Formats: sequence, structure tokens, C-alpha cells
Amino acid sequence: MAQSLTRIYLQVILILILCFLAIGYVCYLAVRDMQQSSYHDRVSQVAASTVKRIDELLSQQRQSLGNFAKQSSVVAVLQHGTAAERSHKEHEIKSQLASAHSVGLLPWTDAGPVSATGTPDPASLDYVKRLATSGGPAKPEFQGNGTTAEHYKLAVPVRNEKRDMTGYLLAGFTRTPVQAILEQSLPLNAYMELRQQVSRGTSQSVLAVGTASDDENVSVASEIGGSGWELLYQDAEAPPRLLSGYRNIYFWSAVIVFTVILMVLYRLYRRTVKSIRHDIQSLIRMFQDLREGSVRVSYPMALKEFSEIFEYLRDRGQKLVKEKEKLKGMGLMDHLSQLGNRRHFETRLKELFEASKANGLSSVLIIDLDHFKAVNDNHGHDAGDALIVGFANALRKLVRQTDVLARLGGDEFCIIYSYAPLNKATALVERLRRQLPREIPLTKGVIHQLRWTGGLSTMHDKDNKPDDVLWRADQALLQAKETGRNNTRIYDPATGAPVKKQIMVS
Ligand code: GH3
Ligand code: MG
Repeated sequence: MAQSLTRIYLQVILILILCFLAIGYVCYLAVRDMQQSSYHDRVSQVAASTVKRIDELLSQQRQSLGNFAKQSSVVAVLQHGTAAERSHKEHEIKSQLASAHSVGLLPWTDAGPVSATGTPDPASLDYVKRLATSGGPAKPEFQGNGTTAEHYKLAVPVRNEKRDMTGYLLAGFTRTPVQAILEQSLPLNAYMELRQQVSRGTSQSVLAVGTASDDENVSVASEIGGSGWELLYQDAEAPPRLLSGYRNIYFWSAVIVFTVILMVLYRLYRRTVKSIRHDIQSLIRMFQDLREGSVRVSYPMALKEFSEIFEYLRDRGQKLVKEKEKLKGMGLMDHLSQLGNRRHFETRLKELFEASKANGLSSVLIIDLDHFKAVNDNHGHDAGDALIVGFANALRKLVRQTDVLARLGGDEFCIIYSYAPLNKATALVERLRRQLPREIPLTKGVIHQLRWTGGLSTMHDKDNKPDDVLWRADQALLQAKETGRNNTRIYDPATGAPVKKQIMVS
């Protein structure tokens, strides 16, 4: 099936679009991933460093409390001291403990801890009781209402020399250092919130800095190692948009480049089609010139790929024109059909007859148009001439370069199949009959149904003169005419019989 240039170009453009889409999609995924991960890394880094600083503060405070709890004076006061002595000790510790708002030494009785000052603080007593039952490291605990709570508690057990628990050292710390950490860590326009676990799964805000945003800014919640506190951090910026800033420029640049490539391709397509059309026009011009018998020295060509074959055709054309002129000049050409005439035929037959011993036998086909007279009678002499010219042109296209084609006169033509024995010539005649047109247009509106009769024979070793083969071909033609026309008969000199096989009818 013939290829369509437009289709090929469309396919190329389609493949290009698919490639661009695939590359674009992969770039989109890569950029999105890079953006998201760097954004999330930054957000979690802020949260993690804040959590670490609070954790360190709590550890310090636990450590300081633990150091006081180990002092023998503290153990003794808690075990044997009076309330006044305990109160005195509490003041002493408070003065030495950084950020301490209150300090209490709570002796442990069977009923639980006892308030040092005698003014029971139920929330503190409850905190210490819970601490005693949990047995784990002290969890800081804000008391009071949400973010208004100013202090949080921390307590450590006090043990005597036998390692028995004698009570608790409880301290209330101001929230200032924690708040300072949050404020120092907080990036501009971001928001941080410290939340304290109230019960399993629920927590309440105890400290907040910055302003919370309703946007889609990412929030991260991080637990502060076993403290029961959780840090909520909301970043100041929303996750970056894919096509923002310079990426917008990249994207539109890629779209422009792609559009330019498509436009260049389209231009290329138009140019290719134009070049092919131009070269075909040159080819048509060359054939017209050939018909008129004057092939030019060169024809302008647009495509290099066509130049070679074009040059070959032009050379062949020039040769043909020269041969034709030669025949004309020698009086060997039939003026109507532009084929060789009887003289030319006889000369070539003689040459081939003489060369037959050395190069092989040649065969001769004589052709006579059927009812040619009727064409003259019915449509005029010009129509008859047109049939001769049309038939000659059709023959010229089908005869090999090496064969001799001539018009013997009237409606009689002849082909010498040079160096072709009878079987080869028979095959060539069969092909000729298949390929010759069924109809030949004559004058305006008149189309002739082509019918012709042929007589074929071949040269023989015993032939004395070139005319012998011609005589046999004539006999075969006569026989073919007698048996109804529109067929070809063969005279085989090997069998000796005058006329033999009918090869076919069209
Ligand atoms: P058949 O089927 O037996 O071949 O009959 P036909 O009508 O073809 O007759 P035939 O071949 O015997 O006649 C050839 C005719 O061709 C005779 C003559 O009037 C005509 N003729 C010969 N030369 C030319 C020519 O140059 N031009 C035209 N138009 N007619 C020609
Ligand atoms: Mg005839």
C-alpha cells in the first residue's frame, strides 16, 4: 500500500507529543517529590529541635530535684523533722532551685503523702499519689485552666539510707523557661502549642505561642519523650506549589520550545511536500520534452535523493531522442508511428540473421490489426491514424530495449525478439497480449476496442536467408486471420508443418 507523507509526519508528531508528555510527567513527579521532602524535612527539623530543648530542660529540672532528694539533711527532715523544720527546708531548696515557684516536702504515710505546710493542696497530693502508683519517672504537669496555667509540677521520691521511700520532694516550676524555648524556636508567622495529656487519647493546650493559621500549612505533633506533653507545630508557609516562581518560567519555556519544534516540523513537512511536487513537475516536463524530441541538458531538482534516478532517466531519454533522430536522418523511421520503418526492420533482421550462428536465434512476430479498414470507413482516416499512433505507443512501452519494433506498413507491425528462441518468444508474446490495452481512444468520444492478430516464428539453422523466418511468421498470421482473428499462431520450423499452435485470444 502506498505510504502517505502526511501520515508519516502525523505519526512523528504524535510520538513527539507522547515523549514530551512522558518526560513532563516524570519531571513533575521528581520536582514535586523534591519540594515536598525538603518542605517536610524543614518542618520536622524545627519541631524536633524544640522538643529536644524542652526535653533537656525537664531532665535538668528532674536532675536538680533528684540531687536535693539525696541530701541527708532533706532525708532527715522528711523523716523526723517538725513541720516548721520541713517548711524551713522547703524555703532553702526553693531559693536554690532555678525557676522554682514553690517547693514541698511531703512525708509518706499509710494514707499517702502529707502536705508539708499543713495547707492541703489536693491537686498536688493527687499528683504525687498518681506518681507513686505509676512508679515511672516524674511527668511534669500543669494545673489550672488551659493556657492560663502558670506553673507545672515535678516530684521525685526521697529515700532513706535503707532505700525505703519516705516521701516526695515536689516542686512547682514557672512556665517561663518552656515558653522561652518555644518563642526562641518559633519561626516568623509560625505557631507552636504545648499540649498536655488529660487522659488516654485526649490532651489540652497548656501553652501557645504565635498565631494559628487556617490555611493548609502542615502541622506536626511530636511527643516530648515520656513527659505526657506533646508539641504541636504549624509551619508559617503552606507546602510549595509546583508551578510557582521560577518553575513557572521553566514550564512555559518548555511549552514554547515544544510549540516551536512542532512549528519547525510543520514547516519541514510543507517544504518536503513542495520539493516532491517540484521534482515531479520536472519529471513531467522532461517526459513532455522527450515526446517533443528535445531533452534539456539539466532539470532543476529540489531533492538530492531524486537527482540520481532523474539523471539516469534524462540520459536514457537523451539517448532515445538521439536514436530517433538517427533513424529519421537515415530514412529509417516511419513518420506516423515514430517507429522504425520496413527498411529499418529489414536491416536489423539481416544483422540478427547473420549474428544468429554466433549469438543465437531470434524470433519474429508479425502483428496485423483486425478490421482496421472499418475504423477508417466509420470514423475517418484521422481516427485510423490515431489508432496506428496509439497502438505504436502502447507497443513501445512493452517491448524490451534490445528488441526491434517496426511498422511494416498499413496496420502491420513487427517485433524481432533478438536472440530469443521460440519458447522464450512465445512467453513474451503471451505477456504482450496480456498487457496491451483493451481500448485505445481515437478521436474525441471514439474509443476503439483493440483486436489484433499475430503470427510468430523463429529463425532456423537451415534457413538460407533472413526472409525465411518472415515468410513463416506471415503464414502463421494468415492462418490466425483465417481462424477468426484476435489470436496468435506459431509456426515452429522444427516440426516442418506450416502453421501450428494458437496461443491465445485477448
Ligand atoms: P483484417 O482484419 O483482415 O486485417 O482487415 P483490415 O480491415 O484490417 O484490412 P487490412 O489489414 O487488409 O487493410 C489495411 C488498410 O489500412 C488498408 C488501407 O486503407 C489502410 N491504411 C494503410 N495505411 C494507412 C495509413 O497510414 N493510415 C490509415 N488511416 N489507413 C491506412
Ligand atoms: Mg488489418
